[in-house]
Amino acid sequence: MLEFHDVTVQFPGQATPAVDRVSLKIERGDCYGILGQSGAGKSTLVRTVNLLQVPTSGYVMVSGQKVDGALSKGDLRSLRLKIGMIFQHFNLIKNASVFENVAFNLKASGADRATIEAKVPQLLAAVGLKGKEQVYPPSLSGGQKQRVAIARALANDPEILLCDEATSALDPDTTSEIVALLKQLKEERNLTVLFITHQMEVAKKLFNKVALMQRGKVVETASTYDFFARPQSPYGQLLVKQYQHDLLPDELWSNEPELYEIIYKLDHAFDSVMAEAMHRFEVDLNILGGRVEYIGGKPLGRLIISIARCPNAALKQEVLAFLAQSTYLTKLEAPKDAEA
Ligand code: ADP
Repeated sequence: MLEFHDVTVQFPGQATPAVDRVSLKIERGDCYGILGQSGAGKSTLVRTVNLLQVPTSGYVMVSGQKVDGALSKGDLRSLRLKIGMIFQHFNLIKNASVFENVAFNLKASGADRATIEAKVPQLLAAVGLKGKEQVYPPSLSGGQKQRVAIARALANDPEILLCDEATSALDPDTTSEIVALLKQLKEERNLTVLFITHQMEVAKKLFNKVALMQRGKVVETASTYDFFARPQSPYGQLLVKQYQHDLLPDELWSNEPELYEIIYKLDHAFDSVMAEAMHRFEVDLNILGGRVEYIGGKPLGRLIISIARCPNAALKQEVLAFLAQSTYLTKLEAPKDAEA
């Protein structure tokens, strides 16, 4: 559906490329997330999809069509109609009504007045803004503004929706609402979504696959579940750990010298593993934090534990080895900031 082939973008005067030989394949129906800190090159990469940014080398394929400077103006126009885009700061026209904002994209594609009059209310209803046609953007909340932007992006029934930090300016509750709306619209309209964000919470809820970017390069691609359960790249491990540590209180680190994280593999339940370890080795396993969350409908359980009543180091190693047979086990390091 959407393929990046060795895409590089080098801005003049910059020491290193903003996007460095990126190859990715996004399948039809994916909700594909590109993760990474600010400055990693995510926006620049996504802007190559509709040639808002021309790659220095490499190319993008959209539905089997090569996107490059050789496209005629007409081809580029019809390509852009296939691709909707939403942004962090909504990019609405302030002094135009909600109706006019959404109608803008329909006019651009040459729709006649009757089509526009019929379609704009349908689009607004689809994003939960029925009856808001004559309101002006400054009197809308952030979430409502993003809904208008989504209606505008969908005006020409695109196959692909590009989202550039589309929830980053919203509070957590509104973020959840917009995530739910995007999920619903994706299903209803058979959209393929490419979403860039630095928000791990959004990644977990929305994406089926992720790519992680660092300094212009893709350093890891995985299913979202695997990324959160077992990140492979050092940078991915750092980010996921950092994200988990943020959920633990600081006091824990001063009270407990050795903390371990166990992540259960899908087919194991914690209680039996924990109970058996305590029984077999006659130690105490203290549960200090953790939760089970659902990523793409699959449970991902994560516990933070310490080992008490353990007389010697050799026994501790045995306990750890036992736990590691049926869980992913890592010793936690006291938190330090993830570097971009
Ligand atoms: P992200 O979306 O991950 O925050 P960007 O793609 O916006 O990252 O930026 C990647 C790098 O490219 C940054 O170092 C940024 O300063 C640089 N950059 C982005 N756009 C331009 C531009 N038009 N001219 C020069 N440098 C740019």
